[in-house]
Parts: sequence; structure tokens; C-alpha cells
Amino acid sequence: AFAAALVCSQSGCGTCRDCQTVLTGTHIDVERFNPTGLSIKAEEVRELIARSAWSPSVGPWRIVIIEDADRLTETAANALLKTIEEPETHTLWFLCAPTLSDVSITIRSRCRHLQLRTPSKTSVEEFLLTNTSVDSKTAAFAARVSQGHIGRARFIATNQEAQSRRKDVLALAFSLKDIDSCFKAASRLLDTAQEQAESENSERDSKQLKQLQDAYQGTGRSLISGGSKAIKDLEKEQKSATTRSIRDNLDSALLDIATIYRDVLVTQSGSDEILNIDLKAEVADLPAQLLLSAVLSGLKRY
Ligand SMILES: [Zn+2]
Repeated sequence: AFAAALVCSQSGCGTCRDCQTVLTGTHIDVERFNPTGLSIKAEEVRELIARSAWSPSVGPWRIVIIEDADRLTETAANALLKTIEEPETHTLWFLCAPTLSDVSITIRSRCRHLQLRTPSKTSVEEFLLTNTSVDSKTAAFAARVSQGHIGRARFIATNQEAQSRRKDVLALAFSLKDIDSCFKAASRLLDTAQEQAESENSERDSKQLKQLQDAYQGTGRSLISGGSKAIKDLEKEQKSATTRSIRDNLDSALLDIATIYRDVLVTQSGSDEILNIDLKAEVADLPAQLLLSAVLSGLKRY
């Protein structure tokens, strides 16, 4: 929406062609780079830089948005430094990251920092009700447990599997009694993250592979000349994307578990503003097994 405001002749009306195409990701002057792999490579950054030099075709600006700028490799970041220090006068770079400290200091020092507000629970809930077909109970639940993350809220609200997986993950927090159960829980977490990543990626992977094979067959060239290298490259990329998914899944599972410890602290401090309303009784029982210090160190670990 910020990019739309810059290319729109009325500072972001939200309805004109410019605004609409920016928001759907098809505007000719706005490039959105969303890495699927573990890191953003120097090669990819160089391609972005080359394209960023083009003059904008319709509006006053060419805009390059890098999502997950915290995933820039060191060489990629270095490749970007000179460009963001002296960008083309008509080009704007938007580097997005979860927090400022996730971005390397050399990049940070050459950027202007904009802190975006986390949307409130109510606005996430309203968003879900207008943009998805979920009922109000599900919307309220998803808005509460996603803690202001709209994408995650939408995913939880509309995905039955995600809801049951979340339940399984949270149940783990209550199974921790000794070292043995901790190890079991950890390996269970890893397995779940892996299964989830594989089921999410396998369909896309085989589709991409098929497309590549078809493309080579279409040219009449055999797969041996060049084609096999292209396939190897694709497989490498896909593997990196799957590893990335596994880590993302683990990350969100741990965040889910952290909400349990958060709720324990909230309950102990005498408030009932807990996130996991459905697990209220369990959360109330949990402190009996845990010392406050253990809860805190549990939170820190996550
Ligand atoms: Zn507009």
C-alpha cells in the first residue's frame, strides 16, 4: 500500500489502475522480491540492481521491494551496498525485515527506518471477516493466537490442518516432565515441521520439474545437453526452499509454544488476558509443575 501511494497520482486512492496493480503485484514499475530459499544470493541481488536502473514507465518511481531482507547473504548485502547508498534518482528500495537488528549494520546505516505498527486484534479479526469466509468464532480465535500477524491469522483461520497441528504442538508443552519427555517433544516438533514442509512443497516441486522437462523436450534438445544441469539447479533450489519451510515451521511452532508460557506468566500475575482461552484449565495447572524461574528460562530459550 505504501508503494501504491507513491505511484498513484492521488497519493494512494486504492481504486485507480496504478493502486490496484501494485496491490495485486502486477504493476510494471514495482518489483516485489520474495525469496523462497534459505538466503538471498548475490546473483539475485545483482539482477534486481540491473532492473532497478530502468526508468519507470508510468509513474514517477521505480520501486524494488525486498521481503525478508534479513536473509541477504554477506556477499549479497555487499553487492547491494553501493546501490542503496547512491540509488538512481527515480528508484526506491524497500527492504523489509522483522526487526531492525535482523539486518546487517552496514545496510541499516544506509537506510531510513520505518517502523510499521502491528495491527490490533480487532482489526485482524475484521480483516478476516471481510476477506475470508470464516465464521466470527474462528476469526476471533485466529486473530487472538496470531498476535497481530495478518498472514498467519489468515492461514490459521482458513486451514483446518493448521489448526489441528497447532493443537498438537501446544499439547507438547504440557507433556514436558523430565529430560526424556523434552527430547521426545523436540523430535516430535522436528518431525511435524518436516512432514508439513514436504507436503507443502512436494506438489510444487514436481510441477516445476515437469515444466522444465517439457520445456527442454519442446526445443528438441536432449536432456543431456544443458538440461540435466538445469534440473540439478532446480533440485538444489527446491531443496533450499524445503529447508527454509522446515525452519519457518519450527519457528512458528516454537512461537505457538511460547504463547503457553506467556499465558502462564499472565495467569500468575493475576490477569486473565490469556491467548489460549481454549486451554485455560491446562494453563492454570501448568505452574504446579513449573517454578516461575523455569517458566522464564523456557521463554528465553524460545
Ligand atoms: Zn490510486
